Amino acid sequence: MSECLRRRFAIVSRDLTRPGEIPPVEASAYSFINLGKRTILEEVSTVNSLVIYAKQILTPEDDWEDGLVHIQNGKISYVGKQSLDLPPETKVYTGHCLIPGMVDLHINGTAGGDAAEGTHQALEKMSRSLAAHGATAFLPTIITDHEEELVRSLQALSEVLDDQLPGARPLGIHLEGPFINPAQKGAHRADCIQAPSLEIFQKYFKAANGKLRMLTLAPEMKGALELIHEARKELSIVSLGHSNADYRCAVEAIEAGANLATHIFNAMPGLHHREPGLVGAVLDSEDISAEIIADGIHVHPVMVRLLARCKGPDKLVLVTDAISAADMPDGRHRVGNVEVTVEEGVCRNQEGVLAGSSLTMDRGLKNLYDWLNEDDLKRIVAMATIQPAALLGLENKGRIKKDCDADLVLLDEDLQVRKTWIAGELV
Ligand SMILES: [Zn+2]
Repeated sequence: MSECLRRRFAIVSRDLTRPGEIPPVEASAYSFINLGKRTILEEVSTVNSLVIYAKQILTPEDDWEDGLVHIQNGKISYVGKQSLDLPPETKVYTGHCLIPGMVDLHINGTAGGDAAEGTHQALEKMSRSLAAHGATAFLPTIITDHEEELVRSLQALSEVLDDQLPGARPLGIHLEGPFINPAQKGAHRADCIQAPSLEIFQKYFKAANGKLRMLTLAPEMKGALELIHEARKELSIVSLGHSNADYRCAVEAIEAGANLATHIFNAMPGLHHREPGLVGAVLDSEDISAEIIADGIHVHPVMVRLLARCKGPDKLVLVTDAISAADMPDGRHRVGNVEVTVEEGVCRNQEGVLAGSSLTMDRGLKNLYDWLNEDDLKRIVAMATIQPAALLGLENKGRIKKDCDADLVLLDEDLQVRKTWIAGELV
């Protein structure tokens, strides 16, 4: 037992019971200590100091060569090049490239776990797999389903969202649908699509118990513009997708508060020179960001390059749109209520329509690096870290900066994930 633990126990024993009555406890971040009739939740491990030396640190606002990051009690306490007077129990790590933990705003499932199940087990599978691939935070995403089923999923998911998880942490829920255009449904079930309705949105918002952070809808559907305006009062992100919106309607949606486009280029008409449409409006506007599924299947790398010239790195966000088949062998899987067959990593429903992806964030980062001819890796890292965190209004995530959460990923020369820390804990 560390000196710190002893000190903490001594205080507890003076306050609540006689010396010698305290049962032994495991050293962990939190531990229940039974004291006679009382049970208290006491933080017992207060010293957690580690330092990471890396050849390159991408904050990603800055790029430090041969720098170090010091972490104490789950927070970043120093970033720079000075030699520090470190506490003796400090753990030391070294590596090639340190980046902030990546944040995935659009992920239905991975490693056999499907967010729509709304179970601890599903979230646990996702959490572990995400961390292994360099993501430290995510929005579990639920697609269009019957109204009562969506209510059930949102309720169930909201109840397990704050559970202790082994890896990446959910930051809230992304509801993709059901207020989408049936003509651009993709793999969503047509019979579950609903007309935009403030009343039904409020029902979903209540079911999610305040944990809904993002809604994807089609702005051209009757009542959608009003819903965008109202939903932005409650949500960090209202995103345009599964849509046939023309240019004028897309601009109105951006003016109403839509701040993201869901998997741009997918489930919307392509760019046309006489009718720029939703894609043209998003490429042209500085007031909206765009998600990109960088798996090389959903969007051609040339289109990703064109997109990055218009939007990146400040308004472009890497997402996976992964389903439970990601990080798993090919075969039959599910996303929500949809049966999916996966062959060579490509996910399709029974009609052969693309149904999510098997992409992981580290693979997406590597693809963007290969495709964008970018010498400046920090611009690409921004698309997976600070940009999604900023959309969620989080200043303590997605960046390596003093007082931010110590969510960090160490990459090797090939951008492979070597280590992941969440709140300073190696996972
Ligand atoms: Zn979609």
